[in-house]
Formats: sequence, structure tokens, C-alpha cells
Amino acid sequence: MRAKVKTKPAETPDDTPSTTATQPSTWSVTYELKFLPLSSCRGFGASSPPRLDYVWESGSEGTGWVRDTTTRRLDTEGKTVPIKVPDGHSVRLFLNSDASGGFFSYPVFEFTPNGEDAKITITETSEKADADPKLQGRSGKMNGDLWMKVSHQYTEAEVRDLLRAAHAEAGGGWPHQIDRAVLSAYGPLKGTGMLTTEPQFRLGDPDPINMVFQGFDPKTGARTEDGNHVDDNAHKFIPNWDFFRHGLPRVHPWALLAMFIAAWEAKVDEVEINSGWRPILGAIGHRNGLGLDVISLTGTLKLNTGAPLYLEYFPKWKVHVNATKVVDPHRGEKLDLINRFRESLYAQKNLVKQVFDPWKMEEDTNDGRVPLDNSNRPGNERAHRDHLHVTARHGKAKPLDILDLVRLSRLAGLA
Ligand SMILES: [Zn+2]
Repeated sequence: MRAKVKTKPAETPDDTPSTTATQPSTWSVTYELKFLPLSSCRGFGASSPPRLDYVWESGSEGTGWVRDTTTRRLDTEGKTVPIKVPDGHSVRLFLNSDASGGFFSYPVFEFTPNGEDAKITITETSEKADADPKLQGRSGKMNGDLWMKVSHQYTEAEVRDLLRAAHAEAGGGWPHQIDRAVLSAYGPLKGTGMLTTEPQFRLGDPDPINMVFQGFDPKTGARTEDGNHVDDNAHKFIPNWDFFRHGLPRVHPWALLAMFIAAWEAKVDEVEINSGWRPILGAIGHRNGLGLDVISLTGTLKLNTGAPLYLEYFPKWKVHVNATKVVDPHRGEKLDLINRFRESLYAQKNLVKQVFDPWKMEEDTNDGRVPLDNSNRPGNERAHRDHLHVTARHGKAKPLDILDLVRLSRLAGLA
């Protein structure tokens, strides 16, 4: 549902005339967001609070809402949103990909100043409960379910538009079976637990590319009883959670697309994903659906440097590690594969912004700088010692052209 609203330029006061010199025409409402203590991508090392995107609007149900035209982002230090609200109006927020993607489907934390400036405190909480977008007095809660509600779930129609935009942005050139595999993530998976390009889609190569998800049976989609799962974080914090219905469709299609293209170019037939959209862990990249993590390629090669992983990190096991330092028997094969996979991701500059892996750290594929080596320093480097992370760019749909129409009809016919 998209509300009919007017927009106004950023920071321009509403044109409500001020009545007297002594009574202000606007009130200052400041939202302060308090996040749970954070750790980075996979839980090692501290990182900054999530740089949450937001858009605000003021007005009321009766008179309509006026939305600020700018998507803003919390900085890493000040976690406050100061807003000037015209006297007699209410204010409310749109957050995360619901705001940055321009969807505006879930307004939260509406407040009406009562003749004075006000400070609203929003506290992130790990309690597993339904979302409550209403304030209690001057405080509100942001739990896993609320994170989910402010994270856009892409529809098949939107994904078709975004795939079209990807062809326009990145020049296309990949088989349309890849688009179909990506598209399938946004509809019912028909009883399986993976995305697949299906067999025999390239000349001389009968193997499909499969994207499988850690902790889910690729054949049935059943969640395994124990071990790690791609959706452990969301499963822990969101009531009635279902990965394929709620989690996978919140991943931006360009993240999935980039992985498939890299697999196709690097001749990898299986990509195992171990994290995608999630609510309560790490920087904003996974909470807004742009982040995607790969833990293994080809079904056997785990993306780590070959050192016994957790043993190396935790001091209490250090002696044990030193005693069992082994040479990774797959090192050559693994490096060859990851190099090809990574190079493809780097080349997809218009679709992929960041790539972090156990060997290389690429902050921005478009900045012209050579990626740094991953030296396993505490923080972002150590967080990426055992998997490859991709942050997709914020893709937006573009107007149709004639070639797009041809692609679109092909996609629609195959879907
Ligand atoms: Zn990640």
C-alpha cells in the first residue's frame, strides 16, 4: 500500500504561517535510537551502530502527510533524528529499506507534540514478540519483527524490474536462466530448498548452478535440527519465522544475481549461502537486505584460509592450535577458485559495492583502489576470515526501453 502524499524539499519549513511572535510555529522532535551492543558481520569484533536509513513525514490522517524528499542515514556517532514539526501536526518515520527503496509501506513511531519540544527514545530489544510501531508515551521498541516490517520484501514484479535494470546497468551478457533462478527466490520454491539454473543451460556443460542455504535440505527445504543455519539470527528473534517466505525475499535481487553471475563466470556449480537478511546482528548491510555471505563453493571448498578456524581465535585453545597447525590440502584449488569468483564480483561494479573475504578486502569496487589484504586484524577483517561477504548496490528499477521489453517478455514467459 503506498500512501498518497505530497513531498517537500529537504529542510524547508512547512508554510504554516506563524501566529504570534511568542508561540513557535514548529516544535523540535528528536528521536534517539538506542541499539543493542553490536558485533560485526559474523559476530567477531565490535562495529559501529547500524547506519539506518530513514525518511520522515509530518501531518495527520485528516489533512494528509507531507514527506521529506531526502533519505537520510544515521551517522555512526549521533544516533538521533531531529525533526521540526509544524504546530498541530504529527510526525512519523519510515526506516531501513522501506525508506531507502522508496516503498513507504510501514510508518512507525508516530508522535504529536503537545505544545513543547520532545525527545523520543527508541530502544532496540532482543525480545521475540510481534512488532509494535506505536509509541508508549515517548518511548518505542525496535525488536526483530519490527526490523522485518521495515525491511522491504520484494515482490516478483519488482524483481523483474530490478533484473531489467541490472541488464541495463551491467550490460547484461549472462544467460537468462540465471535471471529465472534469481526470480524464483521471490515466489514459492515449489517444495525445494535451493535456487537452481536447471541443467544444460550452457553449451557443453550439463551442470546447473545451485544456490543452497546452510542448514536447509536443498531437496525439501526442511530446516535441520542442529548445526548452523543461514537464518539463525532471524529465527531467534522473530515469531512465526519462515526463511523462504520471510527471509530470502528480503534480500535485494542484485545480491543473489551477482553471486550467480560470479558462479557462472568462475565455473562453480554450487554456492552455499550462510547469511542474508537478518535483524539483530552486525552492521546495516545485512539488516537492509544488501548483504549476502558465502561459506563454501562447489559443495566442498570452505572459504577459509585453512587454519583451524575457531581454535585459532580463542586464546584458551591456542596451545592446541599451535600443535595442530596443518597445511590446507585444498589450498591451491581453493585459491584458484576464489580468485576467479572474486574477480567476477569485482567486475560487476554496478551491481556490487563491497566484497570481503578471508584473503582480500574490497571496500568499494568503484573507487579505483587496489583491495587490501585481509590481515586478520580484529574487526571487519577477522569477521571475514571464514566466508565471503558481498554488499550489493541499492538497485532501483529504470524506465522500460524496447530491448527491456524483449527481455521482460522472455522472463515472463519462462517464469
Ligand atoms: Zn556478511
